[in-house]
Amino acid sequence: MNGPDADPPILSWIRDQDAVARLQRAVRNDRTAQSYLFYGPRGVGKTRTALGVAQALNCTGAEPPCGACLPCRKIARLRHPDVRLLFPATKEEDSHPEEIAKRLEEYGSGRYHLLEYARNASISIDRIRELKAEAAMSLVEGRRRVFILTEAHRMQEEAAQSALKLIEEPPAGTHLILTVEEPAALLPTIVSRCQRVRFRPLRRSSIEEILVAEGGLERPAARLIGSLSEGSLGRALALREEGSKERSIVEIRDDALSLFDLEIEPTKIEERIQQQVRKWAGKLDPNTIRRNAELLLIWCHDLLAVRVGLGTESLANLDRRDRLASEAERIDLARLRAWIDALEEWVESADRNVNPGLGLHELLRRAAATDAGPPRGT
Ligand SMILES: [Zn+2]
Repeated sequence: MNGPDADPPILSWIRDQDAVARLQRAVRNDRTAQSYLFYGPRGVGKTRTALGVAQALNCTGAEPPCGACLPCRKIARLRHPDVRLLFPATKEEDSHPEEIAKRLEEYGSGRYHLLEYARNASISIDRIRELKAEAAMSLVEGRRRVFILTEAHRMQEEAAQSALKLIEEPPAGTHLILTVEEPAALLPTIVSRCQRVRFRPLRRSSIEEILVAEGGLERPAARLIGSLSEGSLGRALALREEGSKERSIVEIRDDALSLFDLEIEPTKIEERIQQQVRKWAGKLDPNTIRRNAELLLIWCHDLLAVRVGLGTESLANLDRRDRLASEAERIDLARLRAWIDALEEWVESADRNVNPGLGLHELLRRAAATDAGPPRGT
């Protein structure tokens, strides 16, 4: 608990969320709502922000939240008795409190650690009952009690009904913060009792910075993952994991690019497929197809950006700018459009479980179709 380098307060390292300043003001002016609903995409900082609010409410430092006082440190590590984080768990996990404690410990130990849940995980009525019992008791050591219910739409029906009473009339000094992707996934009666706070996708540049600074990634890989992650750090971290298992995202992109040819001739399709299948060593499952298609679609967007003269800041494939420049110079827009349509179709074919070889053939056939216009731009 007495580490020499205390972390800065959580709210100071949440990125790209206007909500943070508003929440800080509310705490400073003693106008914190009793029930909040934080909503927005997964992996953008909703749960961390909730912990940051708990720090601000319980900090004993001179300028709260300080991050360094004992309550701040306990909250960051999820060891504060008055601050509880409830997350969806399976029945099996629910019956092993030590497993739950371990997950919380992990979450508290890393700034960018994400809680992951099984598909069938939920928040049970038993855990809501425990919360309510706790809420009825006096505070253990803090100034305010904060209950965070992450992925609150995963409350079981009766759990949600039971939580409703707590959300409607929390005891004095108790705050509830629910997080959810879409408010519509919750009971309307719950949504209407909460102050809603919107969270946005993170900027690509923020994700890129985090992956370089904290994730030890090289810049080109961080940039590509930032572009693929749709503003979710959670998705970015999953992509990083996936990439580190076998090959880096840059290698995967380069392999995908060997398929990409703006001037592909119908007579060359078979040869191309043979080359590519060898490269992928027969491992053309729906996930691989989706990843390759996404990477090629991002390449197409970069080509358009170069073509219309946008600055390099917008490019996901900055490390391949020479190839981008040369392709953008020769680009035929109808052909590029054919590629984009064919790539989208390719993903759909994978989702429909079309034979991968056929799907690949169809991709190239469409991309090479002569009605896409002349192979060269004028
Ligand atoms: Zn503090």
